[in-house]
Amino acid sequence: METYANILLIAIPSFMVLVLIEILYGIWKKKQTYTLMDTISSLSSGTTNLLKDLLGIGIIIISYPFLRDQLALISMEESVLLYFIAFICIDFASYWNHRLNHSINVFWNRHVVHHSSEEFNLACALRQSISSLIGFGALFLLPAAFLGVPHKIITILAPLHLFGQFWYHTRHIGKLGWIEYILVTPSQHRVHHAINPAYVDKNLSAIFCIWDRLFGTFQEELDDVPCVYGTLKPVQTWNPILINFQHLWGLTQDAWYAKNWGDKLKLWFMPTGWRPADVAKRFPKETIANVYALEKYAPVYTLKHKLTAIFHFVCLNAFIYIFLSSFGSLNLFSQMAFAVLIFTTIFGFTSLMDGHRWAFVFEIVRSLIGLCIFFHPTQASIWTTDVVFAGASTLYFVLTLVATLWMAQSLPQRSLIAS
Ligand SMILES: [Zn+2]
Ligand SMILES: [Zn+2]
Repeated sequence: METYANILLIAIPSFMVLVLIEILYGIWKKKQTYTLMDTISSLSSGTTNLLKDLLGIGIIIISYPFLRDQLALISMEESVLLYFIAFICIDFASYWNHRLNHSINVFWNRHVVHHSSEEFNLACALRQSISSLIGFGALFLLPAAFLGVPHKIITILAPLHLFGQFWYHTRHIGKLGWIEYILVTPSQHRVHHAINPAYVDKNLSAIFCIWDRLFGTFQEELDDVPCVYGTLKPVQTWNPILINFQHLWGLTQDAWYAKNWGDKLKLWFMPTGWRPADVAKRFPKETIANVYALEKYAPVYTLKHKLTAIFHFVCLNAFIYIFLSSFGSLNLFSQMAFAVLIFTTIFGFTSLMDGHRWAFVFEIVRSLIGLCIFFHPTQASIWTTDVVFAGASTLYFVLTLVATLWMAQSLPQRSLIAS
């Protein structure tokens, strides 16, 4: 995990620079594809995902090394060909995993965060799940297991395969000629993120688009059907932690209220969006019928709100930098303390930007707990061993308290406006 932390120390600034370049390009071209809070929400979502991965939260019920040991039919020499075959196997696995996530109610919860932005840009690529807590993805790597692909090669290629899906989250690149027949392109992936009836659940491939063409899920971007991005049930929040469990909460409520026991059990594994008829009648949920009438989630922000959000986002990045650069030397308690700090920061300020009054209370309590920890007699030694850390942390909690009280009179208005 220390190696992964070091990779992230390079990957995160690289992603940030590319996002910045896309923002500047949008200004230059007078075609801006970013809004402030959506971008902060996307980047914060990426942070929650990297923390989940670094801390190894979740359980793996089917592991690749186990499958490979049991099922390998041949053993191949390590070569460029073997790496290529392994990459194709990972891409195949990714297609079916992705298709499952889109198709079945309970699995959609693992993936909805990636589709939750109503924008489409490089930042929204970083909206990755923290709710995929049960690992069974190795099941889709059966072809690799049969071919005896070593686990080491899978672990080297998997992050590269993931990072290779970043570049095509952009509205600034048109169709790419013959490449459209081989690779997933920005045009194809715009279709994937679109909720237009012609586009929903299409283009599920990750790197090579052959899987979509082979298994009947390919859809070209059409000139007369401009993409509208998001989900058919808009998430209506900037809080990436809530987004990760929003669909699951809806399913749990439906299971609770369903009269029929069969419905309570089967709704989890029915096609995405399916609800028991009695529950749908009692508690109707609106989905978007006309995508072109969609009003994006856009609470009204004053300069005060924006400055507060930027303050928290800058602090968040500082926490992540300190966490990653010292990851190897931190004990489990310190790692968990950082995780709590980062998760509560994201949870608190994104909810505040959603305009929730309870978020105001949450932030006050969070700041006071932080201050109590640093001024508690049992923590006195930290002021002598690491005065800079203790001083900076105290300043952060004081500023958080001040910023929250500063916003108290005018929380963001949750009224929706078209943007
Ligand atoms: Zn998807
Ligand atoms: Zn995507």
